[in-house]
Amino acid sequence: MEVARYWRTTRQRYQLVGEVCPNCKGKIFPPRDVCPTCEKEAKTPFAFSGVGEVYSYSTVYQAAAGYEKATPYTVAMIRLAEGPLVSAQLTDIDDKDVAIGMPVEMVTRVLREDGDRGMLVYGYKFRPVMV
Ligand code: ZN
Repeated sequence: MEVARYWRTTRQRYQLVGEVCPNCKGKIFPPRDVCPTCEKEAKTPFAFSGVGEVYSYSTVYQAAAGYEKATPYTVAMIRLAEGPLVSAQLTDIDDKDVAIGMPVEMVTRVLREDGDRGMLVYGYKFRPVMV
């Protein structure tokens, strides 16, 4: 990845940044510049809290290329506190302990190794909220 692009995307990689609709105030993630609710233009950045709860989940045993070392892993749909659903891997939890409605929070982790160069790709995952 080129340096300029790296810096441009840093904020998104370490924070959940979406958009907020100026018309209906809906929170949008991932950012798409158009509100899915009212279809008005929405380009105002909005940083999500990174907390939510497990909406649904499934455990993956056959990984896509680049993810082999991580199997099995659990991918969940997370209902963010601000409303949108986001799909992400769960981490720091045993697959059998995952439950619908479980409170989770975002953390930054290595997602995968990128091809032959072995470049590590970072991104967000979610882990159980420690109480
Ligand atoms: Zn809207």
